[in-house]
Amino acid sequence: MASGEEYPEEENYGDVSSVGALQRAGYAWADVAALEPAAAGRAVRVRGAAQEVRAKGRVVFLVLRQGSATVQCVVAGADGDVGITLFAAGLSRESVVDVAGVVALPRVPVRSTTQQLVEIQVQKLHCISRSVPKLPISVDDAARSEEDVAGAKARGEQLVHVGQDNRLDYRVIDLRTPANQAIFTIESEVEYIFRQVLRSEGFIGIHTPKLISGSSEGGAAVFKLDYNGQPACLAQSPQLHKQMAVCGGFQRVFEVGPVFRAEDSNTHRHLCEFTGLDVEMAIKDHYFEVCDVVDRLFVAIFDHLNKNCVKELEAIQRQYPFKPLKYLQTTLRIDYDEGIRMLKEAGVHVEPMGDLSTQAEKKLGELVRDKYGTEFYMLCRYPSAVRPFYTMPCSDDPLFSYSFDAFVRGEEIISGAQRVHVPEQLTRQAEARGIDVNTIATYLDSFRYGAAAHGGFGAGLERVVMLFCDLGNIRKTSLFPRDPRRLKP
Ligand code: ATP
Repeated sequence: MASGEEYPEEENYGDVSSVGALQRAGYAWADVAALEPAAAGRAVRVRGAAQEVRAKGRVVFLVLRQGSATVQCVVAGADGDVGITLFAAGLSRESVVDVAGVVALPRVPVRSTTQQLVEIQVQKLHCISRSVPKLPISVDDAARSEEDVAGAKARGEQLVHVGQDNRLDYRVIDLRTPANQAIFTIESEVEYIFRQVLRSEGFIGIHTPKLISGSSEGGAAVFKLDYNGQPACLAQSPQLHKQMAVCGGFQRVFEVGPVFRAEDSNTHRHLCEFTGLDVEMAIKDHYFEVCDVVDRLFVAIFDHLNKNCVKELEAIQRQYPFKPLKYLQTTLRIDYDEGIRMLKEAGVHVEPMGDLSTQAEKKLGELVRDKYGTEFYMLCRYPSAVRPFYTMPCSDDPLFSYSFDAFVRGEEIISGAQRVHVPEQLTRQAEARGIDVNTIATYLDSFRYGAAAHGGFGAGLERVVMLFCDLGNIRKTSLFPRDPRRLKP
């Protein structure tokens, strides 16, 4: 059929490139996930991807997928009409098709689809978009768990294992697997609860610039660019501007936005572009007011996922098995000093007053889990020397700071602190770190016009989901990851 042409009602099958003209009198659009046995006998129209096309004698079984939901469609060709069955048999996998037919109850439950108790007896079948006959990776292969591949190997069989790079090269196909559909649904839920809880606590959402003149966090991990002849950077965090928003009179702000880090080493937990979940707030007495927000917020996020995303978590578990996260309803806080003591008692070498290595953090996560029964906790009061220049030193001992990190399964997901709001002290602390204060002059000036005591924190969305689901690689929780080597697709 020519492109754009209206589809004649009497034609029961064919290719059609203009969906706008399609009419199917008597067939109501249905969602695959919502079909149920009570709908038996009803005429429905369903659009989805042809996940599987299997001819058996004169019948073609078509598995149609919408999101993560699948249903078996049976193309038998009424009155010996072989045209529609030949047409169905010739469909390439992943082609998008329009099925019009009648909901029916299969004689035995269909084991290979999510809809096991209903199927569709096809009367009309139209192809909206044909996929190439040979896909670079198949959804079935991409959806297979490593355990299945290993199990088959042990039995002397060979099942295709799609490697990470290959998946990411063909991400639009890879994203169609049930696990990936679930991962990004969960990510969206985390973002939703983050906004919802903060809004309910009087925070407002803001958007800070990503093109800035100096680096936000210092150090070398910054993407430099030319801004109409001026040197500029992509923001490594919304840090400076979210604090400036508090200086601008907003008591409580949050931001969900892109963060750019020119990471130079490939790790399982660093991306060059990630989604920052940031908070900044005026505080009254103590930086624990910030920790209290972290506590309520993240417990609400974890509770929500466990309660309302059961299907998604199961879909992820099927491909990437993991144990549910252990966490307390009131999040544990321990001091850095106590953490160091626990590590030393366990025989782990730690630099005095130094930052914890990745291995030490992981080990401390295990020790905390064994002692306190939680895999989510906050480590507070870090040495000032290992925190950014804008961190407030403790008033009783300036070698330590009013700062904290939060960990999930022994890996950092959040970093937070009270900030210095006294301009002279802030300038001194920046200079002591070798920062050229001219590059952050407008930030420093913001504190000269009256500034509230304040604090805040930043988390990485992809890291939260990676660690909640114990996925082991942050590329799995980034839709189109940007790492030191990957800039495509
Ligand atoms: P790390 O020690 O893991 O490199 P960091 O101390 O550089 O992290 P912060 O600058 O404190 O991290 O950023 C706050 C949060 O942002 C981190 O706890 C993490 O969740 C997230 N994050 C930081 N860097 C990255 C990155 N390169 N990729 C993904 N998420 C990141």
